[in-house]
Amino acid sequence: MVRLDSQRLARELAACDTRAQRRRRSLIEAFPEPGDPTGVRVEGRLLRNFCSNDYLGLSHHPALIGAASQCMSRFGFGAGAAHLITGHSLEHQALEEELAAFTGRERALLFSTGYMANLGVISALADRHDRVLADRWSHASLLDAARLAGAKLQRFAHGDPAAAERLLRAADGDGDSAAARDRAALIVTDGVFSMDGDVAPLAQLAALAQRHGSALMVDDAHGLGVLGRAGGGALEQAGLRSHDVPILIGTLGKAFGCFGAFVAGEAALIEYLIQRARTYIYTTALPPAIAAASRAALRLAEREGWRRERLQELVRRFRAAAAGFGLPLAASLTPIQPLIVGDAARAVELSRALREAGFWVAAIRPPTVPAGSARLRITLSAAHREQHVDALAETLGALWRARSAA
Ligand SMILES: *Cc1c(COP(=O)(O)O)cnc(C)c1O
Repeated sequence: MVRLDSQRLARELAACDTRAQRRRRSLIEAFPEPGDPTGVRVEGRLLRNFCSNDYLGLSHHPALIGAASQCMSRFGFGAGAAHLITGHSLEHQALEEELAAFTGRERALLFSTGYMANLGVISALADRHDRVLADRWSHASLLDAARLAGAKLQRFAHGDPAAAERLLRAADGDGDSAAARDRAALIVTDGVFSMDGDVAPLAQLAALAQRHGSALMVDDAHGLGVLGRAGGGALEQAGLRSHDVPILIGTLGKAFGCFGAFVAGEAALIEYLIQRARTYIYTTALPPAIAAASRAALRLAEREGWRRERLQELVRRFRAAAAGFGLPLAASLTPIQPLIVGDAARAVELSRALREAGFWVAAIRPPTVPAGSARLRITLSAAHREQHVDALAETLGALWRARSAA
């Protein structure tokens, strides 16, 4: 039995401190610039936020707020029950239909969070007789999902379809049970990797999955709304369709500026998940107002292509400025622009110095990222202004030079 041993907890916390791994929450007190999500007051100071996932700058958009408040006046606030009981409203249904159309799939199913979507989908599809092959750097929720399912989780080298194929082949010859060999593996990956900003080799993974009769599941939490001409994400950018990637996960809390998540796929898959995905069945439906706001966000993301163009423009601008200041940014073309620092304490120190200068950039440390690859995870938003992007590059350049000289 678990005993709550406060001395043991204190020892664990002290160990976090020695490894520079203690995490603290910063308190947002206000958004002092109405309508602008990038200016935040944190502990009494105005900071420019360069680490949120509000890539299109939609989180404070009046259309979202208006849609939510109108919906609340008709549907109330809480959904009151799970979808399968009395929680499924017109707004949820309409959002699911619009997400299916947006992703070019037969149906979509809402989940309360991306974490729950991944847990629910993978544990409904895989069990202890199955193998789940995951890119080593996949989001924690995909890896946790495979573990919860009790499946055999095999992680392949990051962005390396040949490594995935070796795992698929090896299993044919090893001592796995006949039952396991008969069943195809589920291959899972992020579309855009959340901590590195690089894009998975989706076309190659799709071809690989097809050769081996496996299903490919892509979690495009950071690609949808951002990549592709129409915001269709990493799949649109790679020219892949439902047939190539039968299971697509998207989240509403990032580029769409809302909250929640969905899975999109063929009708039979969605109907099966409604029966079997436990994180769908045994939880309260999202408040309908969130679905209403998400519908408004989806419309804006589709129609206002200028947000994506502006974002790309800011990415180019930031990278050019960073290169000018000698900053070794990771090779990323998405709004996630990490600066790999290496040492966790150094990353924390840089983050602190940036904050002194008015920029909010979180240090990301192990175990969220591999040991020795602590970093500043800089993200850009269509809501940023050029002068703020330039100033961040300049300040960071000066801090980086000072650090290298030290
Ligand atoms: C953020 C994220 C999730 C989790 O989504 P939430 O809605 O925040 O729970 C899942 N997968 C990836 C790749 C993510 O980046």
